[in-house]
Amino acid sequence: MSFEVHDPTILANARQILDSVSSPKGMADAVLAAVSRNEEWRGKRCINLLAPEAPTSPTVRRLLSSEIGTRAAEGHIGRVNRWFAGTQYIDEVEALCVELLKQAFRCNYADHRLMGSMIGNMAIYHALVKPGDRVMTAAQPFGGHSSNRVDGPAGTRGVEIHDIPFDPVELEVDLDKFAEEAQRIRPKLVVMGMSMTLFPLPVAEMAKIMSAWGGQFVFDGAHQAGLIAGGQFQDPLKEGAAVLTGSAGKTFSGPQSGMIMWNDAALTKPITDAIFPALAATHQVNRVAALAVSAAEMIEFGKTYMAQIVKNAQALGKALEERGIRVLAAQRGYTRTHQVIADVKAFGGGLDVAHKLAEANIITNKNLIPGDTPADWDRPSGLRIGTIEATRLGWMEADMAQIAEFIARVLVKGEAVEQVRADVEAFRLPRQDFYYNFDNGYPAGVEKC
Ligand SMILES: *Cc1c(COP(=O)(O)O)cnc(C)c1O
Repeated sequence: MSFEVHDPTILANARQILDSVSSPKGMADAVLAAVSRNEEWRGKRCINLLAPEAPTSPTVRRLLSSEIGTRAAEGHIGRVNRWFAGTQYIDEVEALCVELLKQAFRCNYADHRLMGSMIGNMAIYHALVKPGDRVMTAAQPFGGHSSNRVDGPAGTRGVEIHDIPFDPVELEVDLDKFAEEAQRIRPKLVVMGMSMTLFPLPVAEMAKIMSAWGGQFVFDGAHQAGLIAGGQFQDPLKEGAAVLTGSAGKTFSGPQSGMIMWNDAALTKPITDAIFPALAATHQVNRVAALAVSAAEMIEFGKTYMAQIVKNAQALGKALEERGIRVLAAQRGYTRTHQVIADVKAFGGGLDVAHKLAEANIITNKNLIPGDTPADWDRPSGLRIGTIEATRLGWMEADMAQIAEFIARVLVKGEAVEQVRADVEAFRLPRQDFYYNFDNGYPAGVEKC
């Protein structure tokens, strides 16, 4: 008996493709063809509204295939620290990356070596807690992420996980309840990681409560890292978080990478010991070079770019609501981030809606929202929509109204997806350049703020 976690039909289809070509070269060509199909469709013809996805600048994309990525480097920067010789230019690139990250996040220490925030968070659970310790994290229906839950890195560390209490209507931490439960549980760590993130979080208040027993606060800013660097969100390290982790491939708009930032020298050894030699050996120096350039882009363009991302998200929320699609937190202006969360239960729920919109070349994802239960996991009520790529294409508030109109034509007016798809392609195809980078500068009409 065989067991695959992957969709068996899609695997069978791949085997059929490989069987149908006569040579390994043909097999490689089949891979290239699939990549090209994606580039043509997702890259050129779709309105990509996935909240955890960002287009990189032309330079960052080029660096991802640069020669330096074929070189092996492991360990910490420096002649004696490394096992391999010949790394002097790699050291230079990595040191530039570290220093650029420190500048972008206005902090004392930063690390660039982990491939994603999933592993970045693993490093934190490795460094700051031991098996049996108690931690408090956000549950998924309120926006939490598996990396801080029992089925993710936190769980593999054998810690006891308690939920941060949330108000289900306001989508806010219930601070009174948190104070009460935290005082009872006395967690060693609170990790605030939100994949569904609309408003700033009470970092200062929570960190202060934790300090009574020496507990630490970690802000998992996977989604908000770009907003934080661009000064368009709260600054968790200034508000009492001991550590900030982040994904470079979300609002930060760089190559998919984990980033870890902190200020206290006492944390340097535990965190970097967890990175090397525990979780990373060779660490994709091409990705590190690309990360360094994207940090420089954030320093130059971040403020204007991130401010427009938020304005676009607010405009999109309003435009959807005006067209009969319920959007969460309307009473608070919809959002202070790159995300808008729609309640699409009335249109068949998040799974069906996301797939229907994808047929019209509009890419979003299903999302759990307050009121959904674990039984709704695969078919939740919400739809998460993000404005990162739409903003980097140079689009503004008026374009968000057009995007909302496309969505409403599919969901509310019930127009044929083929018709909407044709109009989406006509809207998207002429607009292919990404802005807020050194290659293309600012979009026409936008000035640095
Ligand atoms: C996306 C996300 C992660 C994981 O980040 P990767 O870079 O994809 O590994 C961790 N925490 C939160 C809150 C996230 O949203």
